[in-house]
Amino acid sequence: MESKMHDYSNVTNQEDDRQERGKNLKIITQREKSVCYNSKNKQGLMSCETNSVAGAVSQRACVYCGARVVLNPITDAYHLVHGPIGCASYTWDIRGSLSSGSEAYRNSYSTDLRETDVIFGGEKKLSAAIDEIVEEHHPKVIFVYSTCIVGVIGDDTDAICKAAEKKHSIRVIPVKSPGFAGNKSTGYRAACNALINLMGDNKNEEKINAINFLGDFNLSGEIWIAKGYLKKIGIDVLATFTGDGKYDEIIQAQKAKLNIVQCAGSMHYLAGRMEELYDIPYINISFIGLADTKSSILKIADIMGDEKTLKRAEQLIEDEEKNIEKDIEYYRGRLAGKRAAIFVGGGFKAISLIKQFRDLGMDTVMVGTQTGKAEDYEVIRSITSEGTVILDDANPYELEKFILEQGADILVGGVKERPLAYKLGIAFCDHNHERKHALSGFVGAVNFAKEIDLTVNSPVWNYV
Ligand code: SF4
Repeated sequence: MESKMHDYSNVTNQEDDRQERGKNLKIITQREKSVCYNSKNKQGLMSCETNSVAGAVSQRACVYCGARVVLNPITDAYHLVHGPIGCASYTWDIRGSLSSGSEAYRNSYSTDLRETDVIFGGEKKLSAAIDEIVEEHHPKVIFVYSTCIVGVIGDDTDAICKAAEKKHSIRVIPVKSPGFAGNKSTGYRAACNALINLMGDNKNEEKINAINFLGDFNLSGEIWIAKGYLKKIGIDVLATFTGDGKYDEIIQAQKAKLNIVQCAGSMHYLAGRMEELYDIPYINISFIGLADTKSSILKIADIMGDEKTLKRAEQLIEDEEKNIEKDIEYYRGRLAGKRAAIFVGGGFKAISLIKQFRDLGMDTVMVGTQTGKAEDYEVIRSITSEGTVILDDANPYELEKFILEQGADILVGGVKERPLAYKLGIAFCDHNHERKHALSGFVGAVNFAKEIDLTVNSPVWNYV
């Protein structure tokens, strides 16, 4: 049998060509301030937390989508999109998350506004849609999302929701999210306001010895991993926002003694409001990556427990580390020296990913987020190498430029970034709603390393 040997001697030349191609792509002038090459000498020069530049084709979704992504994981809630049917396509199917109970959240409802509704108003249609959902499904809570056209025609969704609450004796919460009202972060805030509305303003609830977990959406069971660690050290979780969220737990959340906040981009505002309204302090934590998981467990144990809790936390960390050290060592041997590019939704995930790649001996050569804040970019600057490209609210063209120019071997992102990586012939890891393996905690660190290894070291890239 004839064996075919492949000649890879021209790989270095191809690499040089790709980098040259990247250098020749020019970004548009209005975007220049949102992109920089890391240099420890330059501080605070990057522009962020602004609206997207028209025509730059941002990777960000709209205000309504931002609100939906935060509220959709509440498993027993009903989501009614007041607008044209197109807006309603943003469903569980593309923003999946896991449930330990109800599956109601996997359905999506729309008022399907047409031309005549735009002319004569959609309020009657909205009332009828709420009545229908109540009749068919007997929900405890319905979220009613206002889309662009509702913002334009001015339907009084507050009044309709209030009347429906009275009529049906359930919670019907308006979510003010017309797409033109800002950017995706505005949608996060609209969702947080809806959650405050749901919880009410009962400040005088007696506190119980438990915490709320804010900013994990349980995409592949991450909430359950973190809750498992906390249970082992004796700390109870009262409500989760919003992964595997449940109406009955969320309306009790005022009773918690502490809020732990993982995705600060989406939940920092809610944590601040809960501190004002219910006297619940909050801390930032992250269960993504080994270093952050360890420090988060210790931080929570320190605040919520006593000497014994702290001892249990240290023991848990020791045991879990022992279980995974061989696996991590194995993957480190296979991944050291590879170059990573990151483009994710918020700053906390980007920061944790940079540390994870560093633990695996990999260098992050490009990192960007859709809605990162100035303080996130300062941290990113301090933990990445000189010359790493840092970019806010990027578009596919810029991602292509810097992936090529920096010679990245893998891109980590979400569903919108996947085709870009494959078109450029590099590996891709979904760290968003399409993933199938949990990437949190100790077990998640191994899952992550395994996935990166499988894709980066796949022989397929030799044929591209
Ligand atoms: S931008 Fe407006 S019309 Fe488009 S999906 Fe968002 S809410 Fe709907």
